[in-house]
Amino acid sequence: MKALAVDRAEVTAFVALGANLGHAAQALRDALTALGDTPGVRLVQASRLYRTAPVQSTGPDYVNAVAEVSTTLTAPALLDALQAIEDGAGRQRPYRNAPRTLDLDLLLYGSARIDSPRLTVPHPRMAQRAFVLVPLAEIARALVSAGQLAAVADQTIEKI
Ligand code: ATP
Ligand code: CA
Ligand code: CA
Repeated sequence: MKALAVDRAEVTAFVALGANLGHAAQALRDALTALGDTPGVRLVQASRLYRTAPVQSTGPDYVNAVAEVSTTLTAPALLDALQAIEDGAGRQRPYRNAPRTLDLDLLLYGSARIDSPRLTVPHPRMAQRAFVLVPLAEIARALVSAGQLAAVADQTIEKI
């Protein structure tokens, strides 16, 4: 039988971006460009950049943002792409929650629930983090409840 090249359906996914070493804001802008240049990934929109104090981490303030992408990649393949972009930005992992040049987390992949050794989606800690919920609410208000925002209202976050 003749093999058909079937296009995978596009899935809407949300990616959290963070950095607190080097020129963090530029690292995020470059990461957004790299994300949009990734085959099988279309950058739909990105939040503004936000400045946040480190949570469960150390070092300088973080710059954070959230991007919406539309992708034909599977979730593991999208994580591969995110990690390749992190590596390209010189990301090192000396210890857990270490300061970083770039962190790209997959928050949501359509309505998928994934629990594999290397990938948990929705991201298990997103609801505890103003630096995720506030930029996510900026671009996808319906995905974040008022109660969720209220629960992280004590965390300092400001638009750059
Ligand atoms: P946190 O996950 O609490 O934000 P982190 O981003 O600092 O911590 P990393 O060192 O960047 O953690 O990643 C550790 C591992 O987490 C990665 O190697 C990856 O396999 C795994 N991981 C699991 N779920 C996800 C996800 N949804 N997005 C990104 N990485 C994930
Ligand atoms: Ca992270
Ligand atoms: Ca990460």
